[in-house]
Amino acid sequence: MTKWVYSFGGDKLEGGADMKDLLGGKGANLAEMSRLNLPVPPGFTITTEVCAVFDPDGTPYPADLEEQVREALARVEKATGTTYGDPENTLLLSVRSGGRVSMPGMMDTVLDLGLNDQTVEGLASHSGDTRFAYDSYRRFIQMYGSVVLGIAHEGFEKILEAHKEKRGFQLDTEFDAAEWREVVADYKVLIEKELGRPFPQDVQDQLWGAIGAVFGSWMTPRAVEYRRIHDIPGDWGTAVTVQAMVFGNMGEDCATGVAFTRDPATGEKAFFGEFMVNAQGEDVVAGIRTPQPLTKAIGKMEKSTLPSLEELMPEVFAELCGLQGCLENHFRDMQDIEFTIQKGKLWMLQTRRGKRSAVAALRIAVDMVEEGLISRSEAVCRIEPASLDQLLHPRLDPLGEKTLLARGLPASPGAASGAVVFNADDAEAEGAKGPVILVRIETSPEDIHGMNAAKGILTTRGGMTSHAAVVARGMGRPCVTAARDLRVDYENKTLRMMNKVVKEGETITLDGATGEVFLGEVRTIEPELSDKFATIMAWADEIRRLGVRANAETREEVETALKYGAEGIGLARTEHMFFDPDRVLAMREMIMANDREGRERALARLLPIQRRDFVELFSMMAGHPVTVRLLDPPLHEFLPHEESEFEELAAVSGVDAATMHRRAARLQEFNPMLGHRGCRLGITYPEIYEMQVQAILEAALEVSETSGASVVPEIMVPLVASAREMEILKEIIDRVAARVFDAADRSIPYHVGTMIELPRAALCAADISRTAEFFSFGTNDLTQTTYGLSRDDAGSFIPAYRDLGIFEQDPFATIDLDGVGEMIAIAADRGRKTRPDIQLGICGEHGGDPASIHFCEQIGLDYVSCSPFRVPIARLAAAQAAIRARQSGKRS
Ligand code: PEP
Ligand code: MG
Repeated sequence: MTKWVYSFGGDKLEGGADMKDLLGGKGANLAEMSRLNLPVPPGFTITTEVCAVFDPDGTPYPADLEEQVREALARVEKATGTTYGDPENTLLLSVRSGGRVSMPGMMDTVLDLGLNDQTVEGLASHSGDTRFAYDSYRRFIQMYGSVVLGIAHEGFEKILEAHKEKRGFQLDTEFDAAEWREVVADYKVLIEKELGRPFPQDVQDQLWGAIGAVFGSWMTPRAVEYRRIHDIPGDWGTAVTVQAMVFGNMGEDCATGVAFTRDPATGEKAFFGEFMVNAQGEDVVAGIRTPQPLTKAIGKMEKSTLPSLEELMPEVFAELCGLQGCLENHFRDMQDIEFTIQKGKLWMLQTRRGKRSAVAALRIAVDMVEEGLISRSEAVCRIEPASLDQLLHPRLDPLGEKTLLARGLPASPGAASGAVVFNADDAEAEGAKGPVILVRIETSPEDIHGMNAAKGILTTRGGMTSHAAVVARGMGRPCVTAARDLRVDYENKTLRMMNKVVKEGETITLDGATGEVFLGEVRTIEPELSDKFATIMAWADEIRRLGVRANAETREEVETALKYGAEGIGLARTEHMFFDPDRVLAMREMIMANDREGRERALARLLPIQRRDFVELFSMMAGHPVTVRLLDPPLHEFLPHEESEFEELAAVSGVDAATMHRRAARLQEFNPMLGHRGCRLGITYPEIYEMQVQAILEAALEVSETSGASVVPEIMVPLVASAREMEILKEIIDRVAARVFDAADRSIPYHVGTMIELPRAALCAADISRTAEFFSFGTNDLTQTTYGLSRDDAGSFIPAYRDLGIFEQDPFATIDLDGVGEMIAIAADRGRKTRPDIQLGICGEHGGDPASIHFCEQIGLDYVSCSPFRVPIARLAAAQAAIRARQSGKRS
């Protein structure tokens, strides 16, 4: 026989905190509290397995459930000395939902079950309070009527309002018993009119109606939507907890409240919470009266004029204080507690892990280690890596006023307000005077100066690895991409959302953490880094196996990377170094040259500039590994656009503008992402890579000589598809190296490796690793090419694909394990077979994504590399991945 029902709080104790999957969080913790002998009203929990087979349209329940519920109910009756449905001495019940994880407010609850025309009289005489009995009855009819019988809430509200108006009442508390009785009568008429049958008087019907409604609420659209947003599987189901009612609304010696064992905003170890005298839990939620502080200290801090529980009911308060300490010690985590005081007696209704801010999470974790409650590993696992974003970037003040304009993808975290500008030059000019938001349909490398000058970037196309997303993340600028409902009109300099028009110079606000765009300015809160942050990071570093590097090339990015603890540079994209005005001209001259001599002339001008860049990079990173990637992007990204740019270029190259136009047209490609880019440039124009390698190695020689630090450059070839490409380029690199070392009469070690960004490269990894000493997985392109999904266009349909469940996650944000992950695993495996000590890393945007980092740990990569602002997230996620790997290793 399957056990569907677990009792607690009476003479039989079944279940405990470790049974959340079966009993839900609430049921499991109620069982645990009663194990600890805490005052818990007796009850029972129907398991989540019943939810899985629950079918409201067929046979709703397993055959033996009814029998098990009857037995469990009898135990509750015995424990309370009351009988469900007995007018002389009635038991009233609450029926509540409870999933494995809390889904606040998403599912249904019914209170005061068991009241009918007879038992209400019994309750009145038993409690000696007729008003209380009828107040409970009207609450019950209203709640049951709307939750179980499906009658619109407004119908009840209307009746209540009419009664108030008739009597000139403002508050519910002004009703006396007879007046509540009249309200009850009207409620019953409403129900009969709506349903064609009277309000159920049979208490068993009431009970099963409520149980069915709570199980059914698992599938309501709002619960389904909540699970989608929070990645909660639909097959988990909810449990249903049925429990003896206790009343906080039986008079002035009654109360109900919520408490946290530590301050959920700051993490301070101080008992924290609020309560209401003579009230039920729903009154606290409804906010009809102002709640009172729990402690004198909070009252003083909040300048409350109301007395605290500490002052009002000192004995109950002392008991509550003891119990909260006991719960925290037992669960070894901050708890969120619900309690009720009935006629001076304290009852515990719920305890669960308390939600907390990122700041509080750090403080609580570190303090609990110092208090000896948890280990360092546990502390590290208690911090949600993505929550660190809250600490590293400004965020919107949750209390600030907001008017939503549009939504896009949350491409780079942080929040910023500024005046709208529509091109990079305006961003630079206006950004010098005040904060600006750069709005583009999409960005390209030549917008970098404008992106840098802007406080935030908004694009209407693109995805999580589009140019705007990658660059903004690197710079630490908030960015929203793929806000596809917005129309950008460059000519008239407007941004349109249906009939709303935002003109150049008007202010908007971006929330890069949610992808929301707001009209006007919204207040932001500046980030703060505490010493607790540093402590957790230090513990994470002790634990993790994976190295953490950063994708960085500018001084600013490298400084940020070092500040946040990067152990090296995993990707320096050299093309980003060519967009400054003094460089782009030489670059254009090079690509527009007609022949090798022309290219070499321009390259000779670029050489000292590149060398200077690398000297700076190697000096800043002295002693740490630096992976420099040779030129990668399609050449057309460097082509001139404006006529003036064509003319300027024609002048320096000594040809006319018309010739320049013709050459530019020749370089245009249908599909540049799959065109003449990556190592294909190096193969066809070897002089470009020769110049870059010369610059890298001369700089490395210089820095190792002047600083004495060991500089070991890793030269990385992009977009390799075949072993032969790698062989040709390795030969060129080695030849240039020999020449440079010969000229300097000195040499240094260097490594040559490749990115794995194409499925063919992954499959041919065994051959490629004959020459490549390291692989770095370029998962942006590898996702693009494995899926055949443009990284710059996918943003427009990824939300639809997620809604349909085709994508569980955006594959450009989290590695698609089945496809792209398999490619990586194959490449790592084949690479290692040829070269057992091959160094393996990842430098796509996934390198900063916690779920992807877990995968990197599992397949034994050596390091992850991510944008500088994500380095702390990666350090923490790498530590958690190592802990999990050790735990599963121990188990197997
Ligand atoms: C990649 O493709 O994952 C990568 C890191 O290179 P890029 O984003 O510069 O194409
Ligand atoms: Mg790439």
